[in-house]
Amino acid sequence: MAEELTEYSGPATMEKITSLAKRRGFVFQSSEIYGGQSGAWDYGPMGIELKNRIAGFWWKEMTQLHDDIVGLDAAILMHPRTWEASGHVENFTDPLVDCKKCKTRFRTDMVPEENLAKKICPECEGELTDSRKFNLMFKSHIGPTEDNAGLIYLRPETAQGIYVNYKNIIQSNRMKIPFGIAQIGKAFRNEIVTKNFIFRTCEFEQMEMQYFVKPGTDVQWFNEWKKRRWAFYEKLGVKIDHMRWHQHGPDELAHYAKDAYDIQYLFPMGWRELEGVHNRTDYDLTRHTEYSGKDLQYIDQDNNNDRYIPYIIETSAGLTRTLLMLICDAYDEEKVDSEKKADSSEGTVSGSEASADEMRTVLRFHPVVAPVTVALLPLMKKDGLAELAQDIRSELKEDFATDYDQSGAIGRRYRRQDEAGTPFCITIDYQSKDDGTVTLRYRDSMEQERVPRAALAEKIRQEIKGYKRGS
Ligand code: ATP
Repeated sequence: MAEELTEYSGPATMEKITSLAKRRGFVFQSSEIYGGQSGAWDYGPMGIELKNRIAGFWWKEMTQLHDDIVGLDAAILMHPRTWEASGHVENFTDPLVDCKKCKTRFRTDMVPEENLAKKICPECEGELTDSRKFNLMFKSHIGPTEDNAGLIYLRPETAQGIYVNYKNIIQSNRMKIPFGIAQIGKAFRNEIVTKNFIFRTCEFEQMEMQYFVKPGTDVQWFNEWKKRRWAFYEKLGVKIDHMRWHQHGPDELAHYAKDAYDIQYLFPMGWRELEGVHNRTDYDLTRHTEYSGKDLQYIDQDNNNDRYIPYIIETSAGLTRTLLMLICDAYDEEKVDSEKKADSSEGTVSGSEASADEMRTVLRFHPVVAPVTVALLPLMKKDGLAELAQDIRSELKEDFATDYDQSGAIGRRYRRQDEAGTPFCITIDYQSKDDGTVTLRYRDSMEQERVPRAALAEKIRQEIKGYKRGS
């Protein structure tokens, strides 16, 4: 087995990623004109396309490809008893200390031990308060008065919406154990430390699947879901040497978990959690039975009407965190080879890729998640080339996300598409008018080939299907 990487050594830094994300319309700071709202981010035209495609890919992988998994979209606002039953009111806390002088708030586990022991602020050397528990759930009030009767929480995870609907789904869709329920949605946590761009935010999105199994089969299903979730990232073409498993030790295990593994990814700031696979046992359904007074046992009609509370295997990934991971994973910088420029002359858009030793920034997204799949680039605006390009675009846009760019030198336009992660560019030139062929240019290799217009859609479909990331 290859030795595990200890440090990130690629070309990305969080500064570069943040700046590219803003420049190209992936992610903007929330309420920027007012100085920004910490812990919240807005997804621009490229960002929402990328986010929707990741969500769509996950949804297909987790529902369409599994006969035994169905979807759900539960409300963010839930009955407050839900959060007592789930243990969040009592246990969903971070320990924190405040500096009395500079007023900075720290998570206790982030303060060096020496400072904690002496109660000295690591920032300004002022005095630190005692450590106390801080609940991460956002509270609000529902109804016209702000009293405790109307207390309501913004959900800190999507999972509980699934548990409280588990009986409804069995009844409405005649599900039999083992089966799963998948959900994508917003979650909110009053995180004390929100840094590293969109890695840890107060408002974020999760992609969760809860799989209900017979007690005794839980370990087998837990291992099965570990395998499947790893395969998901392989299918997306993520750098495998930037992924690893981390098993929760006894001090990390959540109050409900029997066993838990995180998939960690090597971000520019180091190894961090991307997704958790948890064996939650019968904890959640037992607690909801207790707190709601409703019988949540499963009745196994194929086995003498045996009754039991199912065990739950959870796969819980962050959608917004996956988006950050995919940008970091796709990010590359390379010197554009001037040889390449000379080689690509035969019948293609020659001599236009780069001047010698130019650098390019490229996002090597898998085409299934790239915000734009195909960009149409007429070599010239005049002589009917722009019209021809628009015409081809309108033909392709039924099947693919397209972009159109007619301004500036062709090399510049390729660079812009590279930076946005567009896998295919189609260049329309004078020859296109004569013989109906166009130049198809590949983002990763920068290679070009001439393709008849009529064969374009099928060619692109095949390229997406067989895609392997090249450098
Ligand atoms: P962490 O230890 O990073 O706070 P966690 O172990 O509490 O995360 P879970 O409750 O298991 O996280 O949530 C499942 C997934 O949801 C995480 O793996 C992560 O991808 C995502 N997630 C959790 N908290 C946040 C957050 N504040 N911002 C963005 N994504 C988050």
